[in-house]
Amino acid sequence: MIEPVYSPSPDRYEAMEYRRSGRSGIRIPALALGLWHNFGSHKPFQDVKAMAHYAFDKGVCHFDLANNYGPEYGTAEENFGRLMEISFRPYRDELLISTKAGWDMWPGPYGNWGSRKYLMASLDQSLRRMRLDYVDVFYSHRFDPETPLEETMQALVDIVRQGKALYVGLSRYPAEKAREAYRYLAEHDVPCLLYQDRYNIIDRAPECSGLIDLGEEMGTGFISFSPLQQGLLTNRYLNGVPADSRMAKGVTLREELLTPTMMKALRGLNELALKRGQSLAQMALAWLLKDNRVTSVIIGASSVPQIEDNLKALENTKFSPEELALIEELSAPVQLKKLPR
Ligand code: NDP
Repeated sequence: MIEPVYSPSPDRYEAMEYRRSGRSGIRIPALALGLWHNFGSHKPFQDVKAMAHYAFDKGVCHFDLANNYGPEYGTAEENFGRLMEISFRPYRDELLISTKAGWDMWPGPYGNWGSRKYLMASLDQSLRRMRLDYVDVFYSHRFDPETPLEETMQALVDIVRQGKALYVGLSRYPAEKAREAYRYLAEHDVPCLLYQDRYNIIDRAPECSGLIDLGEEMGTGFISFSPLQQGLLTNRYLNGVPADSRMAKGVTLREELLTPTMMKALRGLNELALKRGQSLAQMALAWLLKDNRVTSVIIGASSVPQIEDNLKALENTKFSPEELALIEELSAPVQLKKLPR
């Protein structure tokens, strides 16, 4: 059967909010789609396609990838490359596509961390998999304590000079190293577009480390990953662990997290969300977006209805002081203040 050619919804930019990233010329949709878990080789391509098309139809024009997303490293990028071929190519200039290198990707000393050799080779591989000439944002995916910061940053600068990325970003850097990196990049005329870290109602690490304030000071946008704490801040685990859930797979989200204290916090937050007329997922996303310093949040999703649910967060991102105080009270016993680095 010949598939009909994809044609995106003509009103795709109407309901989405676009926020300026730091002091740059770029605006980013308040909700972006991340391809860490549900877009690799284990997922039927039809589902990958349905989620990506649905998102773009709703104005989600930022897709966040990394070299090792899948699972099966590289396969999320390969699937994204297929999407470029079959549907997204005519819309390339409407898309903000990011990828990263910094975690383990291939064996041996050159497939991990922050060397110039790894970053340069990895981006070339990512571009081939995604069938792109350039990415919009290339990230150093984590701070490498053993590679001179200047080497990693100069690799980012040179990648931009080579035209393989338009902007650069950092993820999971200690605050003092992020400050040094921002300075280096600015002095070399490649200001850092985005800083990416985990931030949500439960995980307050970037608030506590000052990374959000630092971004504001240095003119770098802040983009939150795992805004739903991988699904914990949704109704997914309120009544056990569904067989098709990320927690049931037991790789990056473990069942041990569901302690009585956690369940009490989640149930309390869920009740508050319902009173606000939102799902818990919507309230968790809205809680992040209430802060103008948060440029965007990168949602993961395993189905179109989850994306649909999450997009409705934009309908109400205002909180009363009493609601905010209650969120603090309910989440305090389970809050994380530091990221394991
Ligand atoms: P989330 O916190 O949004 O978790 C996504 C999971 O939550 C989904 O897979 C789904 O779980 C569940 N979910 C999502 N929406 C709903 C809903 N409405 N109702 C019920 N359950 C829902 O984000 P991720 O942890 O996936 O991270 C998002 C993105 O952030 C990644 O794809 C990646 O791009 C980026 N990231 C960056 C990192 C970095 O180091 N820079 C690290 C990690 C992520 P289920 O699968 O069980 O259905």
